[in-house]
Amino acid sequence: MKTLLTNYNWKVFFFVLALAWLQTGMVFAQQIRAVATWPALADITRQIGKELVNVESLATGVEDPHGVPVKPSFVPRLNRADVLILIGLNDEHSWLPALLEVANNSKILPGRPGYIDCSLGISVLEVPSRLDRAEGDLHPNGNPHYLLDPVRAKIVAQNIATGLTRNFPQNQQAFDKNLKAYVAELDNWIVRWEKAAAPLRGVKFVEYHPEWVYLADRFGMKLVGSVELKPGIEPTPNHIVELVQQIKQEKAQLLIFGAQNPRLPQQIASETGIKVVRLYSGGGSQPETDTYIKWIDYTVRTLVQSVS
Ligand SMILES: [Zn+2]
Repeated sequence: MKTLLTNYNWKVFFFVLALAWLQTGMVFAQQIRAVATWPALADITRQIGKELVNVESLATGVEDPHGVPVKPSFVPRLNRADVLILIGLNDEHSWLPALLEVANNSKILPGRPGYIDCSLGISVLEVPSRLDRAEGDLHPNGNPHYLLDPVRAKIVAQNIATGLTRNFPQNQQAFDKNLKAYVAELDNWIVRWEKAAAPLRGVKFVEYHPEWVYLADRFGMKLVGSVELKPGIEPTPNHIVELVQQIKQEKAQLLIFGAQNPRLPQQIASETGIKVVRLYSGGGSQPETDTYIKWIDYTVRTLVQSVS
């Protein structure tokens, strides 16, 4: 009797094991293939999709915010993708549309269910009164660097959850649950960041590329000017002379630059004594910024350290 029972137990054990193995295999086989343009978006997608999603970022985080150098590996990644998660507002205009044309994947084309534009519902700042691409303006639909505002990131998370659900409605419950948990986590962090960023209130700063308005707005920093003449247009010598004067007059404390050449920021610093800080606007540029929350935390800490 005892032997029989043991034998039976073993059979049940193997059956359960086989079932578990099969299920795991099925989960992996059916993992959603997501491609995000920037690391911060890839991380938020990971937080919403968890084990259901395999997500990769095209940019590594140190690239020019509007000019990600295209690698041959981007094409097969986009070709296989079930969903594409992007900033929108023409942020990726100079490199993504051409890639989508060669990637030959109708699922992720603009207007298709797999095209997840995270700018939907975002209140956009610096919207130009008239569109003028002829002058090379890279922000024709307003400033697209909204990821730097953690409050707006909650809308981004919602947009990603909605986009994933649109494509994979069978997983809606999981996406909703993960979204709720992530938004709650963000809310906790936002309270901490608002406290930690108190020394930034009223700090006057200069940016290289217009990337910092959302963060400045959130934490009360005052923008004095930009090194670029217009988004994506390098300054004239005249503009630099004026900017140097403005920095001196307004007693601006910080010059923030990212992917751009440090030569001009250093030159302006030597003429004005302004402190130069290098920070990137898409997350992921280094191990301390490999998740959205770590990136914003690192950014806030670095700025606070720079003014104290
Ligand atoms: Zn920009």
